[in-house]
Amino acid sequence: MKQTLVDIERLVRPNILKLKPYSSARSEFTGKASIFLDANENPYSLLTDQEGLNINRYPDPMQWQLKEVIAKLKGIQAENLFLGNGSDEVIDLLFKIFCRDGQDNIITLPPTYGMYNVAADIANIENRKVNLDLNYQPQVDKILAATDENTKLIFICNPNNPTGNLIQAEAIRQILENFEGIVVVDEAYIDFELEQSSISLINDYSNLVIMQTFSKAWAWAGMRLGMAITNPTIMSYFNKVKAPYNLNVLTQDLALRNLKSEEFIKNTQEKVAEILRQRAYLKKELSRFNFIQRIYPSAANFLFLQAENAAKIYNYLRNQGIIIRNRSNLVLCENGLRITVGTAQENRELIRALTNYSQGTESGFPSPH
Ligand SMILES: *Cc1c(COP(=O)(O)O)cnc(C)c1O
Repeated sequence: MKQTLVDIERLVRPNILKLKPYSSARSEFTGKASIFLDANENPYSLLTDQEGLNINRYPDPMQWQLKEVIAKLKGIQAENLFLGNGSDEVIDLLFKIFCRDGQDNIITLPPTYGMYNVAADIANIENRKVNLDLNYQPQVDKILAATDENTKLIFICNPNNPTGNLIQAEAIRQILENFEGIVVVDEAYIDFELEQSSISLINDYSNLVIMQTFSKAWAWAGMRLGMAITNPTIMSYFNKVKAPYNLNVLTQDLALRNLKSEEFIKNTQEKVAEILRQRAYLKKELSRFNFIQRIYPSAANFLFLQAENAAKIYNYLRNQGIIIRNRSNLVLCENGLRITVGTAQENRELIRALTNYSQGTESGFPSPH
C-alpha cells in the first residue's frame, strides 16, 4: 500500500490556520475540584425527573468519557474520534475548515446523499458533480480529471444512499492515493456491513476522514450523535473550529450509560440482525410484483428499486398512510424508489398494500384513491 502524505496545512483556510479558538471555562480547568464558580452557571439543578443529571452545568467540551467508550467499540483511539450533533455537523465543519467562499470546490458522486450539495450551496462552494457509473460505482479517472488545486473535498458515500450498494474498496484507495485533498467516506450505513469499513485506513492515509453516525443501526436518530474518524492532524482543526459545547449533557449522559451496557449492545446487534432478515423478506416479496423491474443489492437498511410508474406507486402508498421515498428525479434513478426496512408488521402491511395496488392495476380498475 502506498501511503499518502498530503499537506493538510496547504488545504486549510488561512484564517482557520491562524485562528485562536475560544477558550471556555470548562476547558481551562479540567482537574478535580468541588466548588465551580468559574462559568456563570446556576448552582441549582432544577429538573424534576432526571436524577443525577448535572443539567445546570456546562458539558465536557471534549466528551472524553464518551469518546473512550465509543473508541473502544470501534477499535480506534479516542484521539481519532470527533463527536458531533449528527454527521451533519461534521459536514458543516469540513466546509468551515477547508473551503474558501467562492473560490474552492468539492466533488460529489451523484446519485448520492443530498446534504453534501446543500452544505456546498450554504458555504457558496462549487460542487463538481461526477456521476457514478451504471453500476453506481465511482468513475475514478473522471473524478481525478475534475479536480484542480482548489478542490478540497471529495465525498464518497459507502454504502451509497439512495442506491444501497457498497463502493469498491479499490476505487476508494485509488482516490485516496491520487487526490491531494480530503477524501470523506460517509459510512452512515456501515454498521449493516461492518467488514467493509475503511476505518483501518485512517493511519495510512493522511487525507482520509470517515463519517459514521448513531442515527441508523444504533437507533438514535433523535439523539443527534454523529462522528468523524480521522488522524490527529485533521482532528486538531475539527476541535479548533467546533462550537465549545457542541454535545449537550443529555446526549453525552444517555449515550454513555447505554454504550457501557452489554445488554444494550447485545440488543442493538440483535435488532440489526432482525433488520437484515426483514430486508431479505422484503426483497423476496417485492420481487414477485411484475411492476417492480429491478431490486438492487443492498448493504444498508433500505432497498432501492426500479418500478413501472414509480410516482403512481408512491402516491398510492401515501394514500394508504405508508410513506416511502420517491427518488425518480435523481440522475440515474429513473422510476427509482427507496424503501426503508421497517418492523415485521410494517413490512407485511407494505406488501399487502402493494398486493392491492397490483390487483387494481392488473384488472384495469383505477386504484381506490
Ligand atoms: C442518514 C445519513 C446520515 C446521518 O446523518 P445524521 O446527521 O448523523 O443523522 C449521514 N449520511 C448519509 C448518507 C445518511 O443517509
